Amino acid sequence: MQTWTTRNGHTITQVLSGRCNCFLVRRGNARLLVDTGRTAAWGRLRTALALAGVAPGQNLDVVLTHTHFDHAENVASLKQTFRVTLLAHRLEAPLLASGAGPIPAGSVFLTHALMAAAGDRARNWFRYRPATVDIPVDGPTDLEDRGLGVRLVHTPGHTAGSISVIVDDDVALVGDAMVGVMPGAIFPPFGEDRARIVSSWAVLLETDCRLFLPAHGRACTRRTVERQHARYRGRFD
Ligand SMILES: [Zn+2]
Repeated sequence: MQTWTTRNGHTITQVLSGRCNCFLVRRGNARLLVDTGRTAAWGRLRTALALAGVAPGQNLDVVLTHTHFDHAENVASLKQTFRVTLLAHRLEAPLLASGAGPIPAGSVFLTHALMAAAGDRARNWFRYRPATVDIPVDGPTDLEDRGLGVRLVHTPGHTAGSISVIVDDDVALVGDAMVGVMPGAIFPPFGEDRARIVSSWAVLLETDCRLFLPAHGRACTRRTVERQHARYRGRFD
């Protein structure tokens, strides 16, 4: 499991990779799981959490960057197994409560054509066990009172309620606000609002983060995000 250490000593461990990268942020006894992955990965997630010292019945803070199925399918199982406090943006809470995060329209030619051909029903193919958000996030949210030098910021575009997790103002966990699948290119293939995707990159660049870890693909450097922001800025306004 790949691990990063931030400037003030938080560790960020990638506990799931593949369909959805999920990360465990730790400092001392405080820990925060960022995204939960698909049900097929539930066994791997449990094992990874056990290896990280999180035992069933213990406290575990969980934040969802947004409520698409590949990020949210394991929330209900986590709530049954651990004493979870779940955080997500208030705009995403009703979607999680209904067990459906509709897939957004394609944001590039290929995915746009794909979703147009598949029709509206396809947007709701993926359903999962519903769950309740314990702490709805609205605006910048500091988690210092939960023992972590972590800030949640609203980075909409992929979905209206997408958030990013800023650790120590050093490393950002960005969900699907960007992707790291193709070197040098970070535009997510699906998104509700392309202009807001780009303006959310500007929000992320206002931090001092040197590394941006997406839910799909590899880490993006600050230089790459700066270049992509310069390329797309104003294009969809
Ligand atoms: Zn998504």
